[in-house]
Amino acid sequence: MPKILRFHHNFVESIPHAIDDGILYVSVRFATAIHKCACGCGEEVVTPFTPTDWKLIFDGENITLNPSIGNWSFKCRSHYWIKNGKVIWAESWSDNMINSNRAYDHKVKNSHYKNDDKGIWGKVQEFIRSKLG
Ligand SMILES: [Zn+2]
Repeated sequence: MPKILRFHHNFVESIPHAIDDGILYVSVRFATAIHKCACGCGEEVVTPFTPTDWKLIFDGENITLNPSIGNWSFKCRSHYWIKNGKVIWAESWSDNMINSNRAYDHKVKNSHYKNDDKGIWGKVQEFIRSKLG
């Protein structure tokens, strides 16, 4: 399969079972996107949108995903950006780089969700306390 040079977006209600090459399916409802790996290997890449995962930028014509997409768990290990619908290839990472990035990602996620949880539960506890007087 040839490399994919650009992605067209398709806003969908739910993620379709069969997906086409070169289409980035975006479900706002499920806050996620799915596409076939840009290297042409046929693997499906899921990019959830959360404060610590991917962000979607839609300028009315094209889509940008941030950060880059690193398919380390696939055989192809492709690494690329989708910027304004175009695929921009990035360097393939070594195992060391992948592992240190995973550790960093884990740290960021932990601290984000810990703070978030504390925020929500802190508020709930405050509310309960205020009701109890
Ligand atoms: Zn691939």
